[in-house]
Amino acid sequence: MIKIVLMLFFTIGLLYGSIEIELSDTHVANAQTMLVRLKADINEPKLQKIYAAYEGIRYPFYHDKFRAGRSFYALIPTSYYTKPKESKLVIVYVEDGQKYYSSYKITICEGNYKTEKLTVAPSRAKISRKNQQRIARERKEAMKIYNTKTKKLYIQAPLSYPLDSKITSAFGNKRLFNGVLKSYHSGTDFRAKKGTPIKAVARGRVVLTKKRFFAGNSVIIDHGQGIYTCYYHLSRFKVKKGDFVKKGSIIGLAGATGRVTGPHLHFSVRVNGVQVDPLQFIDTIDILFER
Ligand SMILES: [Zn+2]
Repeated sequence: MIKIVLMLFFTIGLLYGSIEIELSDTHVANAQTMLVRLKADINEPKLQKIYAAYEGIRYPFYHDKFRAGRSFYALIPTSYYTKPKESKLVIVYVEDGQKYYSSYKITICEGNYKTEKLTVAPSRAKISRKNQQRIARERKEAMKIYNTKTKKLYIQAPLSYPLDSKITSAFGNKRLFNGVLKSYHSGTDFRAKKGTPIKAVARGRVVLTKKRFFAGNSVIIDHGQGIYTCYYHLSRFKVKKGDFVKKGSIIGLAGATGRVTGPHLHFSVRVNGVQVDPLQFIDTIDILFER
């Protein structure tokens, strides 16, 4: 049988023995990402299969090339719409055809997101039927991208920010209408004058450059393994679909295209199909590069 050590980044607790599991945290807020790292003893027989199950979804583990030995990791997002509760993270592994389970208690708490109360219903009526169809098409196209998992991880170094500027609107602001959650701010807004160079936060492949209804000129970069970063409202593109970009490559210039009141950069991140807090994600994935 494979043995387990639960090793939090801040506490160490020995459970069994020769597989070490590290969780970035056992308390996560809605829209935050957890990092699970797993280190197998070099003398253990090869694991045939490992995955994590969380909130009804299965997540693969990938080989952790940033660490010596037989190490693996999984990035596990919590949806914005998940209510505070006690949840469970189950790590499943197969050895010699036998399935083993190891489960951890995860406390999902409510993120510290601000509330914007709307007095007027966000009206769909103002959007023409033709544009509503366009919005639906664009959403479908984006979801198809986000649900595609490129096996290889293109990221090689800690992530950077898309520009050095002030944050004007944080991720996660709740938009309530009559006390009912209508929507939330799905990215982090940075102050950016028209023409400000916007940079890729990590290595990856450009999978979309397109003018869209809400997001305006949009760039989406695939970083591999279900990780995507998005850059919206650009005035100009500096890359095209299919281009391979390095961390820090200029991908476009900031602008005010799409449904906006002024120029800024809306930056967002998807992990395994789930929209997450971009800056919390950057802090979490950067743990992989700590020595
Ligand atoms: Zn925004």
